[in-house]
Amino acid sequence: MSEPLVRVDDVARAYHARRGLFGRPVEVAAVDGVSFALGRGETLGIVGESGSGKSTTGRLVLGLEPTDRGGVVFDGAPMPKGGTAEWRRLRARMQMIFQDPLGALDRRLPIAEQIREPLDIHGVGDRLSRLDRVGDLLDRVGLGVDHGRRYPHELSGGQRQRAVLARALATTPDFLVCDEPISALDVSIQAQVVNLLVDLQAEFGLAMLFVSHDLRVVRQISRRVVVMYLGRIVEEGSADDLFATPVHPYTRALVSAAPTPGRRLVDRIVLGGDPPNPADRPTGCAFHPRCPVAEARCRVETPRLVDVGAGRRAACLLVAADATPNREAA
Ligand code: SF4
Repeated sequence: MSEPLVRVDDVARAYHARRGLFGRPVEVAAVDGVSFALGRGETLGIVGESGSGKSTTGRLVLGLEPTDRGGVVFDGAPMPKGGTAEWRRLRARMQMIFQDPLGALDRRLPIAEQIREPLDIHGVGDRLSRLDRVGDLLDRVGLGVDHGRRYPHELSGGQRQRAVLARALATTPDFLVCDEPISALDVSIQAQVVNLLVDLQAEFGLAMLFVSHDLRVVRQISRRVVVMYLGRIVEEGSADDLFATPVHPYTRALVSAAPTPGRRLVDRIVLGGDPPNPADRPTGCAFHPRCPVAEARCRVETPRLVDVGAGRRAACLLVAADATPNREAA
């Protein structure tokens, strides 16, 4: 990859929580040692169950939350501290799409004004050109001028997410973080919004971090995929390779549970139990209590994320470094 647009180096973030009602406060690692790179115009999917740290990773990358360790490099320069004037200027080039479009919009303002807002804030063009730009953006996301006059509660869920997209694209950003952008939408609308995102990404040359628990959509939209479990990356690879030959037992289980044409339901790997409480992280490999192929050493040895060949990484004691993933074994 040429110089990436976004480079994330060993990023970590912890919160404080109590073990039980009267327990002592403990530090809970939401994200721990996450590193990856994202090229211009590339989409990187982040998947994992609830509590895997995927959404926190998205916020850390954008500087919406401070990191406890590590850092982010954006377009060759360290990401400025969140909230500073330098960071706010950079926000014109980095936008975020949230899960709940109604929560992301101001209920008191018509849609067109909200799409124009980033142009006003960043001083893009004059009044007339901003109005033209708003019309173009509405049109580009499949909304009309009439939708621009309405308030958020007067639009459907899909129309609201289109409006949020139009606002995010107003300043022609280079980088978009999408955090579960379709999970609050009706199934019938989800495909439309995904197709729109794919089209817009190609048209605007956007780099995109696509956070989702929906592997079907991540596979459709991403070139590379990162799989997270309890705050750490357990596997990374191209979407084609990772879905065809998942290496890590957790990825195998996730992929086996995602509906895929031509694969029988009996091939599904059912994981026992829920993800563990992050405040009670299991020793050794954090996945060992649920891993169908765990060995005794998995309780005490912590696997490192290592290259397993063909541009892929995995963190499992049973996967040798630089081993080419075995298609039969998957
Ligand atoms: Fe399973 Fe052990 Fe690999 Fe962890 S290290 S994923 S417990 S086999």
